[in-house]
Amino acid sequence: MVIKNQSEMKDGNIRNILRTMLWNAPISRADLCKKTGLTPSAVSALIRELLEIRVIQELGPDSQKNQGVGRPPSLLQLRANSYAAAGAEIGANYLSLGVLDLTGEMQDTMIEKIAPGEQPESVFDQITCYVAKQDSQLKEKRAKLVGLGVAVTGLVDTKRGINRFAPNLGWRDINVTEELSSRLSIPVVVDNNVRLMALGEQWFGNARDSGGLIFVQVGAGVGCGIVLPGIGLLRGAFDGGGELGHCTVLPGGPVCKCGKQGCLEALISERALVSAYLRRTAIHSETAGDPRSLSVDTIVEAANQGDIDATSVLREAAEFLGIGLATLVNILEPSQIVLNGNAFALSPLTRTWICESTQRHRFSSEENIELSDATFKGHQGMVGAATAALQQEIF
Ligand SMILES: [Zn+2]
Repeated sequence: MVIKNQSEMKDGNIRNILRTMLWNAPISRADLCKKTGLTPSAVSALIRELLEIRVIQELGPDSQKNQGVGRPPSLLQLRANSYAAAGAEIGANYLSLGVLDLTGEMQDTMIEKIAPGEQPESVFDQITCYVAKQDSQLKEKRAKLVGLGVAVTGLVDTKRGINRFAPNLGWRDINVTEELSSRLSIPVVVDNNVRLMALGEQWFGNARDSGGLIFVQVGAGVGCGIVLPGIGLLRGAFDGGGELGHCTVLPGGPVCKCGKQGCLEALISERALVSAYLRRTAIHSETAGDPRSLSVDTIVEAANQGDIDATSVLREAAEFLGIGLATLVNILEPSQIVLNGNAFALSPLTRTWICESTQRHRFSSEENIELSDATFKGHQGMVGAATAALQQEIF
């Protein structure tokens, strides 16, 4: 926390004020009282402390309210460049790094390739080098780096910061928190990458402060992050919650990496769509093309050009994804679904089919559920990771 060694109650009140300011700035002391439920004297005292440590700033009188009697209220907002958090996403073949200021603005982002079979130590060294450099640059600007968030693929024990299993990286039981804490003297928080993508979207993206959000990443696999009002990020009792990709949508369907049959991931992953397209085009060999150049992006491109096989493969995949999304909507009723990943998730053509299928399989279709693109695209995991660190240390 920005003010150390506080009682739990005071810590909660400070976080309440800073969170309220994040989503409602600029704001007066009186409006802070209304939105936080704190008394005017409590708000004044805490604001005084927060101004002293430069986490917030006073903007002066509200020019919109100077027609009435008396002095217009002074407005307050977060001081964006006073504190920051670093974020790192360790993807299947890339490392995304960046820094987020207090208002969620990205600074100094970079993306590096991770070679197949690269050892964890080498990835941690790259993260350490980047974070140490950012830390000293921020110090020069009188700003403070409060922590590092790390987003990793696969199963994560978030309490201990252990990446239990990342099949795409070949990692098992890697203690990410311990490895990075021993190299850097700042707090480190670790979670699954798609979960953190959802968190970043809900805090700083277009879906900020929404009434419930389902974030789905479609690519080599199918990841899902769920943020619920009043609960926050859904992790489940044993850190394995939100596994949309391993929900059965076609009993007896193709075998999944997890060993079960008919999982959503086994039907709509990059590899599944390419295989399905190759099977169809083998029947009409004149449209077959070079399989080495095939990807979901090229299949979507072919569908856009009217290719019948590409269209049928993608329509079927959209149907399966819609079944999965409708199931989550029926149970959780989010206000927004955010999609990220490859062209199947993002192109307008496939998006229409995914929407139609979701709508068709929902129980109640009275309330419209918005289906939108992720705000930070390729940086989404990094932003989410830094958000987790800001949430732990500031908000
Ligand atoms: Zn599975």
